[in-house]
Amino acid sequence: MQVAEQCVVSIHYKLTNDKGEVLDSSEGRDALVYLHGAGNIIKGLETGLLGKKAGDKVDVKVAPADGYGERDERLIQQVPRSAFQGVDEVKPGMRFQAQGPNGATTVTVAAVTEENVTVDGNHLLAGENLNFAVEITDVRGATPEELEHGHVHGAGGPQH
Ligand code: ZN
Repeated sequence: MQVAEQCVVSIHYKLTNDKGEVLDSSEGRDALVYLHGAGNIIKGLETGLLGKKAGDKVDVKVAPADGYGERDERLIQQVPRSAFQGVDEVKPGMRFQAQGPNGATTVTVAAVTEENVTVDGNHLLAGENLNFAVEITDVRGATPEELEHGHVHGAGGPQH
């Protein structure tokens, strides 16, 4: 059967950026199993897999708008060093949970001075083109319970 709404799809994938660096891969792991049309995976990848079938190998290029969004310079902020009390050493690249207006968010330390820390609340992949090399290994119909929950049950999903 073909990939469509209300299907459970199993894929192996490799994700690279435009420089050819591998950002993520299912190699050596179980296939990723998702419920198509439920927002389980990024929109651009779902769109690229629509209508394909098991055994198909598909290259899908996803622009930032359909991936993790464009970078938003407003999400880069300076906070006083004192906000990191209890952390021995704050270094660029470290990631912290922070409370934002829309709940918990993860920020990345971009720069550190004696008094201030610059944190970046953008997703690490914001602004990046995402190049997926996908192999579809299985497509099946979703069960009524899976559709109700909006996610896959059994292998690759929550055990409940
Ligand atoms: Zn469930």
